[in-house]
Amino acid sequence: MKLNLEFDPLLLEQAVPLALNRMVQNRPLQQERARANPVRDPKRSDRSIRGAQSRWLAKLSLLDCARRAILEGGKSLSGVSRWLITGASSERLCGAEMTAAEGTRRVVIVRVLPATLADGALALSFFRCELLTIADILDPAFEYQPRLTASSLGPLETRRIQDRISVLWRCSVQGRLVREGKLPAEQRNQSLAQFRILLPSLEDRTQECFERIFAGPRPLHSVFVALATEPEVAFGLQRRSMLRRRRCPLCGFHTADFEPGVRDLPYLVCRAIYLDFPGWKAEMGLCRLCANLYRSLSSRPTHGVPCSASSA
Ligand SMILES: [Zn+2]
Repeated sequence: MKLNLEFDPLLLEQAVPLALNRMVQNRPLQQERARANPVRDPKRSDRSIRGAQSRWLAKLSLLDCARRAILEGGKSLSGVSRWLITGASSERLCGAEMTAAEGTRRVVIVRVLPATLADGALALSFFRCELLTIADILDPAFEYQPRLTASSLGPLETRRIQDRISVLWRCSVQGRLVREGKLPAEQRNQSLAQFRILLPSLEDRTQECFERIFAGPRPLHSVFVALATEPEVAFGLQRRSMLRRRRCPLCGFHTADFEPGVRDLPYLVCRAIYLDFPGWKAEMGLCRLCANLYRSLSSRPTHGVPCSASSA
């Protein structure tokens, strides 16, 4: 099968020395470069270095991981006619993205860190995850919707929902790959840690909810969106959430997210609260947002100090 697979030369230029470093402290390429450099003609020298690099590319099999992952995807990726593999400057920018189709041709751009490409096992895991995500998008049964319905909660909450969709989807992808033996079993702990960070409101039910995604069948895309928008409701923890909800005595909002360590709040934080809410007592509690607000207010040197003193 002929693959229309292109690599950004700059990415390869960065990845080759890293791969060599991993292998033999970069010596073989340096020796070849040293042999190429004495040539006085800079154009010829450049050609020689590039020639050495491409020979090492083949020796290091840097391009094989992407090729292998695409071939493993088989029919599920047959809708893609062109693959472009390019570099990413940070972890956050890594990933695969399907650009608008060129007619009936679909083009996928995969952004990867040079260090990931330089590490064969890591690169294979990375491409397998990214390509299974693309296979999901291409599968009509997944009912992928590229755009979120506009959230009435503003850009910050929309961003939060998108981050949660990513982590839920990734957990599902990683779980399926672990079951197929294409990712190491230890991946589970890393996936759970990410899930925990992005979905803190699930608290003691985190593990159970995680298992439903990681070990369960792939949900529809709309289910990921629902889980990301209102995790407690969509995971069926609504009753617990309703029972735990009450009004924060400071901001007045109904919430289940109360500050757990009210009695351990530092004196200065409590003092800052008393200044604004003289009737407040620790046993009334307060929501986590208010607690964080007063933590930051109390750390400011001018809080509670008369203006004349602070401007002196
Ligand atoms: Zn509050």
